[in-house]
Amino acid sequence: MSLSDRLSVFPRIHLTSLPTPLEYARNLSDFLGGPRIFFKRDDLTALAFGGNKTRKLEFIMADALQRNADVVVTLAGVQSNWARQTASAARRLGMDVVLVLEGTEPEHYQGNLLLNYLMGCELRFIDGITQEVEDKEIAGECPITGEVAEELRKKGKTPYTAPLGGATLLGNLGYVNAALELRQQVSGLGISADYLVLATGTGGTQAGLALGIELAQMKTRVMGLSISRHSRPKEEEISDLCNRTAEMLGVRNRQFRADDINVIYDYVGQGYAIATDEGIEAIKVVARTEGVILDPVYSGKAMAGVIDLVGRGVFKKDEDVVFLHTGGAAANFAYAEDLR
Ligand SMILES: *Cc1c(COP(=O)(O)O)cnc(C)c1O
Repeated sequence: MSLSDRLSVFPRIHLTSLPTPLEYARNLSDFLGGPRIFFKRDDLTALAFGGNKTRKLEFIMADALQRNADVVVTLAGVQSNWARQTASAARRLGMDVVLVLEGTEPEHYQGNLLLNYLMGCELRFIDGITQEVEDKEIAGECPITGEVAEELRKKGKTPYTAPLGGATLLGNLGYVNAALELRQQVSGLGISADYLVLATGTGGTQAGLALGIELAQMKTRVMGLSISRHSRPKEEEISDLCNRTAEMLGVRNRQFRADDINVIYDYVGQGYAIATDEGIEAIKVVARTEGVILDPVYSGKAMAGVIDLVGRGVFKKDEDVVFLHTGGAAANFAYAEDLR
């Protein structure tokens, strides 16, 4: 059975037009004087300014529809792109949205939070959520969103709890599919795509791509630049996601080990959602050379990594680097003070 046949078994709803463009970033490549850099423009997906969660949501929201959900509940950071894209998908499908946001309510609504407000989401701010609780939410145990869902059920609603970041096995399928899409584009352009570089948060996107690249028999090396964790065990988590997603697809002849997964931790800075000087510089470099807008939380930090790795000769002049633009630009408006 082909990979696309295996994927087609899973319910999926059309939420954006695909493929997203694969563009040669000529000016940036010339400016850096290293490899040829290409942008895979997943920032150009639909759902209230788009981003990498859209592909995940095509599978996740299909699941919600199958379960007759009328309200989606999810936990996220105050400036979460995941929350914004989930809200947009839910609204488009006629569902309500409850967002449990980590942190205190800001005085001024900006960026993603403002968009979530415009989409009429019910916003609940919760302070002091521990890493342990957050990990449980990512794993789908839902200590917090489960309680909200219970409360909604008592009111006669049919809630669907969508895990933080959309890092479910179903969500990963969106990026298994993206790998197939990329294979076609890469062969169409006749480039070698030696590396595929992206910002890694929960790791679901990287897992889907690593698995998809492998199953599509591409030689591209997938490199995740961590934007939250400072050290392992991200590799273990991602290889585990690869294996479980493969199993769900009925593929059993390939086992991923942590060593198969490449995550770099050098560009996180102080932590998740805290801008770094190098990330801000990278945003400006790309904006000024290509007119493309990255963001301070994810893609800017990842691009800071690309710039540094080019400088250190890790990517060679005769290599092709595909940078997955995962979106997130709406957050810039909430970081105006850091950016100027
Ligand atoms: C969520 C997000 C990521 C990280 O994706 P994961 O699948 O959680 O690793 C990267 N970039 C942007 C802009 C995002 O919103």
